[in-house]
Formats: sequence, C-alpha cells, structure tokens
Amino acid sequence: MTSRTLFIALWLVACLPAQAQFKWPEGKQAALALTYDDALHSQLDFAIPQLDAAKFKGTFFLKGEITPADMLRWRKVQRSGHELGNHSVFHPCPRAMLPDRKNYFTDNYDVDRMLSEIAVMNNVLFGIDGVQARTYSVPCSQMLVGGIDYTDALRKSGLVKYVRTGGDAYRSVIADPRKLDVFQIPSYGPVDHPDGKTLIAYAERVRDAKGLGVLQFHGTGGDYLEVSSDAHRALVEWLRNHPEVWVATFQDVMDYVSAHSR
Ligand SMILES: [Zn+2]
Repeated sequence: MTSRTLFIALWLVACLPAQAQFKWPEGKQAALALTYDDALHSQLDFAIPQLDAAKFKGTFFLKGEITPADMLRWRKVQRSGHELGNHSVFHPCPRAMLPDRKNYFTDNYDVDRMLSEIAVMNNVLFGIDGVQARTYSVPCSQMLVGGIDYTDALRKSGLVKYVRTGGDAYRSVIADPRKLDVFQIPSYGPVDHPDGKTLIAYAERVRDAKGLGVLQFHGTGGDYLEVSSDAHRALVEWLRNHPEVWVATFQDVMDYVSAHSR
C-alpha cells in the first residue's frame, strides 16, 4: 500500500460515524440489575424489605433445594414484582470449588444432565410463580461440565432467555450492551465483605460509562459471601438518590437491551 492510499484508508476510517451511545428508557443514563443467588434467608429478611421500601425490583436466582415453606415466601416475593430466576436444582460446581458436595461435581456431569437439571428447575419455578420465561445464573460461574462448555447447548435448548455469569468490578461495567452475548453476561460479585462505598463505586462506574451493570449478591446481612445489611442499604439509598440509573430486574433490563440492539 502506498502512503497515499494508506492516508486515504485512514481518513475513511476516521470519517465513519462512531456507534451512537446506547439509549436507556425514559431518559435514564445507565442500568443496574441487582441479582441474588442461592435462595438465602438473609435475602428474604434484609435485602427484599430494603428493595421494597425503595420500590426497586431485584432478581433472585433460586436453586431447587428449598423447603415448601420457603417456596411460599418466594411466591410472595415474585407477586410483589421481583423476578425469580433459575440457578439449577442442585447447584453443581467444580470439585475444587465446593469439595464437600461430591454428588454434584460438574467434573462428573455431562451436558444432558446439566440441561435436564435446568429444565426441572424451570418446572419448580413454574410451580412457585406460574411464569414461563426464565433467566439463568450459572452455579459457581462455571460453564464446564465434564470438561465441555454447555453455553451453546443451553442457547439451542430454548430453556432460558439470558445467562448471567461471573466477572469483576471492572469487566462487569458493560459500556455498550449491544455487543453482549446474552448467554455470557458478566456480573460483579463482591467478596471480602465490601462496604457500601465499594458497592456505590461500582454503581458510579456503570453510571459514568452510561452502560449496564449487574451485581451478584449472596448473603445480605447473614448467610455467606456476605454483604452487610448496612452496605446493601447504603447502595439502595444511593440508587434512590440517583434516579438517572435505571434499576430493574435482570430480565426486564435484558429484554430492553435485546429489543434495542437490532
Ligand atoms: Zn450459587
């Protein structure tokens, strides 16, 4: 290529319009989905009352090992506007991550068994809330079963619409959600008992990027991988004072992204 043709090529690239910033609904500047894994009592006891007081809706990814009494509690949660999502029946994980659950090592699973579990959990959830469209969060954020990645098999199965996986505080700030693979949506799961400032700093990064953020909680005010009730409340308060950030369920946010990505 001559220097002249190189110059023209570079000039043409420079003239291409940059893809416009993704537009969120109702003048919102960014979106944040608050998601909660493992059907924990601390979520029912602390996180949900805080969300309800602020009129925010969250997404609760349930596993199948819950009692009938808890099912009734989760039914009420869904009826008040929150989303119940699929986190599999038995929460299989790699041996190295949860060594005490030897019947449920993903090392010993295959793709059929994994998809069957997700299908059965859809039925459990249907029994709780009567909803058919589901989202899924990946147990232990690991998509390998018996060494095989089941992302594409799950995509083809039609069992779920969107899949939330793991990430970190930076990779999970999604500046342009149109570029997402909706079966590999990263989320920030803070560890080491983050305080409210840490959670708010993530929300601020999402807002400043005018993008999408997904937070992944476990215990809130109890249980394990805990975020304290005060830290969770501080984030909820910050979001209440920053209405430019759209807080909605994972499925609602992703439905919006999907509908505006063509
Ligand atoms: Zn989990």
